Amino acid sequence: MSKNTSPTTLVMKFGGTSVGSRNAIEQVIKNVRKTRQEWERVVVVTSAVAGVTNLLVESAERAIVGDEVFISQAEKELLAKHFEMAEKLIHSIAQQAQLKQEIKYLSKEFSSICRAISILGEATPRALDAVVSLGERFSVRLLAGALQSAGLPAQYVEATNIVVTDDDFQSALPNLEKTAKNVQNTLMRMLMQRQIPVLTGFIGATEEGITTTLGRGGGDYSAAIIGATLPADEVWIWTDVSGVMTADPRLVPEARSIPELNYREMAELSYFGAKVLHPKAVRPVVEAKIPIRICNTFKPEEKGTRVINENDKAGKKADARQIVKAVTAIPRQRLITVEGRGMLGVPGVAARTFGAVASTGTSVQLITQASSEQSISFSVPDEASESVIASLYEAFSEELSQRDIDRVWASEEVAIITTVGRGLQDTPGVAGTIFSALGAANVNIYAIAQGSSKVSISFIVSAEDAEKAVHTLHHFVAAS
Ligand code: ADP
Ligand code: ASP
Ligand code: MG
Repeated sequence: MSKNTSPTTLVMKFGGTSVGSRNAIEQVIKNVRKTRQEWERVVVVTSAVAGVTNLLVESAERAIVGDEVFISQAEKELLAKHFEMAEKLIHSIAQQAQLKQEIKYLSKEFSSICRAISILGEATPRALDAVVSLGERFSVRLLAGALQSAGLPAQYVEATNIVVTDDDFQSALPNLEKTAKNVQNTLMRMLMQRQIPVLTGFIGATEEGITTTLGRGGGDYSAAIIGATLPADEVWIWTDVSGVMTADPRLVPEARSIPELNYREMAELSYFGAKVLHPKAVRPVVEAKIPIRICNTFKPEEKGTRVINENDKAGKKADARQIVKAVTAIPRQRLITVEGRGMLGVPGVAARTFGAVASTGTSVQLITQASSEQSISFSVPDEASESVIASLYEAFSEELSQRDIDRVWASEEVAIITTVGRGLQDTPGVAGTIFSALGAANVNIYAIAQGSSKVSISFIVSAEDAEKAVHTLHHFVAAS
């Protein structure tokens, strides 16, 4: 990355696999050391060790039903996993003992919260956050310790003291103004002393100091928040693939990494299922005009993906080459339809429909409306469909009894398939070509929607057709 003004500031975020083993952390150390020779100020944000957050979530669920055997095994596993890595990565005996003490302390905290959950027989969102936040609290100590042991001036920082959020536990929203003050007071001060702050991703705290989390995969969001509030010159997301790829490499082995994307394309890609970057991570950096780079911890020599402003020269050049840049899939959805002749021209039906959906805490990913059939359809996650249908029945009980609304129903399981690329907005005929290709592949399309930012087109297809649809559409990427 080129840089012309100083001092330059970089946020580096490492995901779960990047801190998932001794070898991975050794690679992180190399990457931080090298980067620090090029950037004057470096802030590290870390995820929990791979698999740990899932284990914590499952533990909280098992605690609700009083599964004490599971909890005590999970506690042992947490201890063993972090101890083993500490022993391999921390060379000084005193430092290792200190770290082990802290790991022990956190695992005791884990078992006491789980015990409290099991006595109550329920876990509030606040209690869940207290449990799942432990993953990053373990890993931040381990990573900072390992960096120190390798001679780097790292210091761990709990994001509960930095990232101020609302009290929407499990999916908290940051208050950027208040966070910025803490960032200046704490992180900036550390950076000025040439330290490397190592921060827990994924977590924050309310103004009262109660721990919150930003939602699964939220470590990227933390990096963006810190990047925007410093502000940093760039944010680099280090993960286990070489950037954003033309499709999920687990689904399409021939997928290749995309050198450049603009912010709108990145936003659509992550919103429609490219797990490599959390959808909420895009906005803070766009607003602060900070470029993001997504790179591979294990292949740092590969360039990965750069996400930039579309007006940048390089971005424009890349856009001109490709119409469809990537294909994504979101499985396990259902299409909910509200239909009835009496809906035609009645104001407020859509507002009431989505009000009823929102009251269940479900967010809608895609909406289509067919006025000729007087229906509104939208997709929700499979597990939410029952409660959404119940809430719609309640909201429209009168219209249903008067037959103004004929039916409220959920489809079989479906998937949302999305093609993303800036060229989609101004290349005539491209949508038709895409439909024809899906038709030729015998993929039945249930609904279509164009992203509001115009750089994406989404299709609803049956669960069985999802993989075929992704492969068919990936040919367009490959051909460009
Ligand atoms: P981390 O733990 O580093 O945050 P994640 O598992 O959250 O990593 O995200 C990286 C994973 O996202 C990749 O291993 C890949 O399987 C998946 N993925 C899904 N879609 C894409 C895509 N279009 N490009 C790259 N990776 C993708
Ligand atoms: N550890 C959290 C999760 O697994 C956050 C993250 O990895 O980004 O969801
Ligand atoms: Mg992630």
